[in-house]
Amino acid sequence: MCSCGTKITRHEATLESLPALRPNTPPDERDPQQRMRVQLREESRRRKVEEMEQQMKKQHLIQHPYVSFHNRVVKAYNKLNEICFEGRLPPADNVIHWSRKPHMPFLGCMFGVHGVIVGIVLSADITSMQVLIEVLMHEMAHADVEVKQLPIGRSCHGKHFKESATKAVAVLEANRSVLEALVDTQLNVDVDQVRRAKRRRRFSPYRK
Ligand SMILES: [Zn+2]
Repeated sequence: MCSCGTKITRHEATLESLPALRPNTPPDERDPQQRMRVQLREESRRRKVEEMEQQMKKQHLIQHPYVSFHNRVVKAYNKLNEICFEGRLPPADNVIHWSRKPHMPFLGCMFGVHGVIVGIVLSADITSMQVLIEVLMHEMAHADVEVKQLPIGRSCHGKHFKESATKAVAVLEANRSVLEALVDTQLNVDVDQVRRAKRRRRFSPYRK
């Protein structure tokens, strides 16, 4: 688990011994060995996604108490996905979740496995839209690295995460008024705040 709470699983120990398919080479449907290899990988992927969904549900998922706040965050995610991540991430409806887990140390958490985004869990205690957007963009940068299946590094805030977050903030800066109109809030999104893993003990969710 990374220091912002993000959980990513990449490796299939049981399948490691199988030779990998060459990228961009479609499996030969007539070759029973290749067919079995593809089936095993798909089965393992499905199982891992289900396990990750179970882990995510343990975060005491709730409906956000303020529907209008939730709706603004959903719109913000979809707009950020479109302008900052070129639509690579899945739509918000299946991704954005809220938690008010007692003693949850994180303000955000991305659950991903084998290039699949299982969900992004945000703390329902965040009342500042500015903080919410920073946490959301941080988790979306994790999701971007996962979708592209780039190396995550030991801390999962490695080179690719930093590149994705930095680029997203730069693109947002050029389109800030679009997002501000959507969330009805003036924003001052800072790249250092987005790249930083936010924990409750050193970060107030109520900062304006
Ligand atoms: Zn993180």
